[in-house]
Amino acid sequence: MTATMTKQALTEDEALALYTNPETCPADKLEPIPLAEEPAFIAWQRDIPKQYLDMKPEELDVRISHARAKLGERVIILGHHYQRDEVIKYADYTGDSFKLAQYAAAQEKAEFVLFCGVHFMAESADILTRPDVKVLLPNMAAGCSMADMADPDDVYEAWDIIAETLGEDVKVIPITYMNSAATLKAFVGEREGMVCTSSNAGKAFEYAFERGEKILFFPDQHLGRNTAWAAGIALDEIVLWNWLLPDGGLTPEQLKKARVICWQGHCSTHQRFSVEQIEKARKEHPGINIIVHPECRWEVVQAADQNGSTEKIAKAISGAPAGSAWAVGTEINLVNRLAKQNPDKTVFCLDPVICPCSTMYRIHPAYLAWVLEGLLQGEVVNEVVVEGDTRKWALVALERMLALP
Ligand code: SF4
Repeated sequence: MTATMTKQALTEDEALALYTNPETCPADKLEPIPLAEEPAFIAWQRDIPKQYLDMKPEELDVRISHARAKLGERVIILGHHYQRDEVIKYADYTGDSFKLAQYAAAQEKAEFVLFCGVHFMAESADILTRPDVKVLLPNMAAGCSMADMADPDDVYEAWDIIAETLGEDVKVIPITYMNSAATLKAFVGEREGMVCTSSNAGKAFEYAFERGEKILFFPDQHLGRNTAWAAGIALDEIVLWNWLLPDGGLTPEQLKKARVICWQGHCSTHQRFSVEQIEKARKEHPGINIIVHPECRWEVVQAADQNGSTEKIAKAISGAPAGSAWAVGTEINLVNRLAKQNPDKTVFCLDPVICPCSTMYRIHPAYLAWVLEGLLQGEVVNEVVVEGDTRKWALVALERMLALP
């Protein structure tokens, strides 16, 4: 299997085997950045009984529907936009990580929240729901490669070096993207910082600059750079903290001049989009609208007509006139779904090598059936729990985000 193989060329079983294996997923293979150690939460994974993996889609459908009906209001299922259709069809609510966090915070009846997303989203849901609500992630291997690029120890070390270099008089506000471990959300909560998503990063930057002179933003360098640029900050005042190098690879002068310090992290799925793809789309489809996610590189966002969160992308396309054409720079499951929901428009993915978010792809209906049937038998598997000071301070950081105007 190579990185140039397209999803269309694969059967469902082949795609599942390819994308659920971190060794073979093209998205994971493109950028061989050494990741932090394997996230601790993978150790909590329970082995799914083989019988579920052997079940045909029709049988899984029947078993999931049956378990759902029996559990009734005791369970709600949240589905992120990047989930495949075979999973999203079971979701009670769909959305981006911000909208799903709001749903989790607002729900009152359910005992269980089944989060069809990735680990950091399930952690946020656990923090935002009542303590007696259990949040389950059907497959604990559904992490986020971007979130894994910000190892808490590396961030603590960077924070100390930055503070020592800049001195006490310079106030730095840390902001973490939603795509980060709960420990990092707690870290920013304790230091006047906050969490943001791609829907509200601009407002989070305003909040930070009302309180400090500089921002340390992690883990996505591209969202950090794109947001800083949109806030009017020049590129030479936006620096990159490379956690693989001593002192982040920055001189004291660079740090002193910087207004935004971006962490060297990225999303393998969004980093694939390029200016060449945009030029090609424009050449082949004169008048086409190009819309991309702000996790794309700065030059890609600059070349596009619009950029925004998955919610903004979905709204822009659904509200566009019939007959319009859209080339979209975000995850393929969402793009395909938008194409289906907007049959009067032309909607396609900018990237010809179609590669889904490999970690989201690890949620398969087999895991849903397993977890739901477990609940029917009184067995809770793959619960995500955030406790103690981590929960307390991460909640502070999340509530600051939810309180943004
Ligand atoms: S699309 Fe990228 S940032 Fe989003 S969950 Fe997948 S790996 Fe993480």
